[in-house]
This record gives sequence, C-alpha cells and structure tokens, in this order.
Amino acid sequence: MTRVQIVLTALGLLLLANTALAADNAAVSWHPSKPRVGDVAWVLVKDVLEGATVEGSVDGKPLTFFPYAGGQAAIFGFDLETKPGPHTWRVGVIEPGREPRSAQGSVRVVRRDFHVERLTVPSTMVDLDPETERRAVAEGKQLATLYRTITPERMWRGKFTPPVGTTGTGKGFGARRIINGQPRSPHSGSDFSAPKGTPVVAVNAGKVALVAEFFFPGRLVILDHGLGLYTAYFHLDSALVNEGERVERGQTLGTVGATGRATGPHLHFGAQVAGARVDPTTLLGLALLD
Ligand SMILES: [Zn+2]
Repeated sequence: MTRVQIVLTALGLLLLANTALAADNAAVSWHPSKPRVGDVAWVLVKDVLEGATVEGSVDGKPLTFFPYAGGQAAIFGFDLETKPGPHTWRVGVIEPGREPRSAQGSVRVVRRDFHVERLTVPSTMVDLDPETERRAVAEGKQLATLYRTITPERMWRGKFTPPVGTTGTGKGFGARRIINGQPRSPHSGSDFSAPKGTPVVAVNAGKVALVAEFFFPGRLVILDHGLGLYTAYFHLDSALVNEGERVERGQTLGTVGATGRATGPHLHFGAQVAGARVDPTTLLGLALLD
C-alpha cells in the first residue's frame, strides 16, 4: 500500500469506529447552530429520562444543565474575545436503567467585527491616582468573583424583557474602545439611551446579588438568575432593591442616571454566563421558552 492508502484506510477505520459509537450516543443540538463571538447559545440533549444526570463542557468549561423539552439544556456564553472557529464540546448522560451515553463534537463560532469607538472623558476618569486605581481594580475583581459563582437554582423562565421601556435597542456591545486616545478593554455591555429617572426593570426573575456604588459602573444592581447567568445594570441614578431580595421579570430595580464613568444619562446593561461576557441583546432574543 502506498502511504496515501494507509492513511485513507486508517481514516476509514476511524470513521467506522465513530459510526459504531454513534449508535449509543446522546442526541445533541446547538442553538444557534453557528453562534457568533459574544452570543449566548444553548445546547439541548434530547430524550433524557427523569432523574438523569447530564454533564458536559465546552473548551473544558463546565455546562450546567436543567430539564427542558423532554431532555436537558444548558446555556453557554461565547465571550466577546472568543477565538472564531471550532470549539470542542462533550456531553455525558447517566440515567437509571440505561447504559451511560456520551457525545462530543465541535461548534463553529462565527467571527463578528466589532466597531472601534473613540471617546473623550474627563482625564480624572482615565488617568487614575494610585488610590482610585486600587479601588477600581478591587471592584473589578469583586465583580469577576461574583460572575464566576454559580447558583445551582434556575430562577429565570421564558422570554427576557428589555431593561428599559425605550423603543431603541442597546448599542455598542464589544466595541474596542479608545478613550482619550488610549486603547482600553472592550465594551462588555450594551448601552440604552434614556432620560434620567426612566425606570430600569429586571429582564427576568432572579435574586439581587449586589447593590453598590463603584468607580466606573457608578450606582449598580446585579441580578443572579441562577446556573451562572447574571445581568448587570450600571450608572443608575437610584437603586430601589436590596441585596438578597427576589425579583420578578419586569420589576423596577432603579432609575437611569449618569453615575460613574458615563458621558450622559443611559443604562449600561450587561450579561454574563459563567464569567463569559456576552451580548445582552442575544440574551433578550433567546429562543429557549418554558
Ligand atoms: Zn456601557
């Protein structure tokens, strides 16, 4: 056999082996099938018995499953700095009275071009004195720790509602920012312009995880929706909820303001899934309904 034939034979055996495995494999689908950088996607493992344990991961990051449509589903966030291209996933299902099943594959993440935004803000908001710098770093770490905390209870259900009643959609997610001529971290949320005092509402049910006044975000409210999903509401003029309080979808959390680093009154609305910064607009359009 030539070298090419050997390789082809090996490939054939490999394909055969995969086909044989597929007979016992769990049926898995991705929604959307080709997520973009910054999207919230969800994965469905079909036909799963009640009482089953479903676990899995994407790029080694764990998925947290919940019962959905006769199977189990999990949401996954493709962070705004995810590399476009294939990302490997795997799923395992253990059910009473059935052989364990598994599946693996890759999901192709589509590139998305984010625009470059040039902003001018007072220099005291960019060139921080050491004490303010320490404060901003500590606050950033506190948020990062919170976002990585996964509450096992799923509190959100059904469709997500916009955080403000304005007609326009949020803007600027993922923008690579140049502030006062210096490149800064990309914009991890979506900005909704609205007059000061406009009510800001919970996009879905959850628990108030944090109410604080931070240097960059200003007055803020963060909701924990469970299973690693968080939404954040920044630059508020007032906060009308307390930490630990359960909120319903549409419940008023506070009002639009311009606190923290803001060029004018607007709501900065952010969403994170297990620490991945995702486009909150895709969260509002999530087609997972129950
Ligand atoms: Zn913003």
